[in-house]
Amino acid sequence: MSTLKNRLRMTCPYCGKFLGMRTSERMSPVYIRGIAECSNCTFRGHVSIEIEDIAYPSNHPGWQKLDIPLTPSPHLQAQINKGFQMPAENHAATH
Ligand SMILES: [Zn+2]
Repeated sequence: MSTLKNRLRMTCPYCGKFLGMRTSERMSPVYIRGIAECSNCTFRGHVSIEIEDIAYPSNHPGWQKLDIPLTPSPHLQAQINKGFQMPAENHAATH
């Protein structure tokens, strides 16, 4: 399991300082929309974040039965076509 080192960060297009999320709404399991606010100037902008595809599959219990509208990325699909084995479900995982 890799260690996540970086959080998602976006900067203000006008002054370059960090944007914070003022509001956010989960529109679907793969799509969040909200308003980002600059930490320095008065800028605010609508932001949408969407997971586009599966870069590497989950080992969450039952993940293949969940109704998540994602398909393998072209890179992952090429690996599957070459015989890549999906990870075993991790039954020890908790929510
Ligand atoms: Zn700014």
